Amino acid sequence: LIDTGGIEPETKEIIPAQMVYQAEIAMDMADVIIFMVDGREGITAADREVADILRRKEKELLLVVNKVDGRKLPDGFYDFYELGIGEPIPISSTNQLGLGDLLDEVVARFPKSAEADDYDDDIKLAIIGKPNVGKSSIINALLGEERVIVSDIPGTTRDSIDTPLERDGVKYTLIDTAGIRRRSRVSDDVEKYSVVRAIASIERCDVALLVLDAEEGVSEQDKKIAGLAHEAGKGIAIVVNKWDLLSKETDTMRDYERRVKQELSFMDYAPVLFTSALKGQRLPALLDTAFAISQIRSMRVSTGQLNALIQDAMLMNSPPSDKGKRLKIYYVTQIGVKPPLFSFSVNDRTLMHFSYSRYLENRIRDAYGFDGTSIKFVFRERRGEQ
Ligand code: GDP
Repeated sequence: LIDTGGIEPETKEIIPAQMVYQAEIAMDMADVIIFMVDGREGITAADREVADILRRKEKELLLVVNKVDGRKLPDGFYDFYELGIGEPIPISSTNQLGLGDLLDEVVARFPKSAEADDYDDDIKLAIIGKPNVGKSSIINALLGEERVIVSDIPGTTRDSIDTPLERDGVKYTLIDTAGIRRRSRVSDDVEKYSVVRAIASIERCDVALLVLDAEEGVSEQDKKIAGLAHEAGKGIAIVVNKWDLLSKETDTMRDYERRVKQELSFMDYAPVLFTSALKGQRLPALLDTAFAISQIRSMRVSTGQLNALIQDAMLMNSPPSDKGKRLKIYYVTQIGVKPPLFSFSVNDRTLMHFSYSRYLENRIRDAYGFDGTSIKFVFRERRGEQ
């Protein structure tokens, strides 16, 4: 669910203009667009302008009229038909009315399948991170030349540019290099909304490279973006750039890596790389690591080995119990890749505590690595057995 800052058509100010721009990105990547209007205020000129923009999008649209708090539809409700984007759906977000119906309407408009991307043979890389950490310097260095990809004028995501790249016979695609190259005046608001752009790239990538500034370390925004890549089950590596700026002692790199892993403890599987785009140091390692991660994400573990491993893990550290009932794991099998997905057949799902599932994950990682990718578990209760 992507929330945008709102659309204020026809504005010249920089921040609202950025918000329109971010809303454009969100609209382009969305499967369904909910256009929300104010039922108390009634139809406005701005509503009509936004509706004009939306109708040109060729997207699934839903018109939602908020603040319909009572049972009676407000005067002017039917005016919203004039917007030409279908039947207005009344809701009250404060009173939580109509939300279930709205959700049904949204889900009914989801595309049936969007897996086509998976069959391409190139590795899609998203290079993400805050402004000024060195993303475009890295891209330029990887491409081996300075090239101006876009002008400074904000456009829409239609001008987003993916850059192909080949190394050692492996094809890569750097996603949305235009978005990275775009020079925007950096302010808090712009930075906040640039997360939308990162979400768009993460969604399409196989591997995300999260670039940090060595002098700044991990910020809250970095954690948020890393969390998105983790939740989406993408491959991820942390790139500590501007490594040339730090004065180094014997353990500087090791200590730095430990700190990064602590800050991003939910994804301590991500490799940490140290680069200097300025000096061209260790940049090929980025592609090599991305390649390795993309291979790892497709790895399959045999069911026999997996069950032996889990049986062993249960002997070493017995499963949790609650009120005299102990968790039993009957059978484990890997049912998916990209990211690796494991299905556990258990007696009672509620007995599977987070800490135990984390323990099992660590055992699997100890045995098979899976560096740079999240791995996912599903727990299924076997019926008839307790
Ligand atoms: P972006 O906004 O993330 O794309 O960052 P840029 O690539 O535009 O870099 C921002 C600034 O940091 C520029 O002045 C770069 O020259 C500088 N920079 C980028 N990488 C490095 C690096 O590895 N070391 C140093 N010292 N400066 C760098």
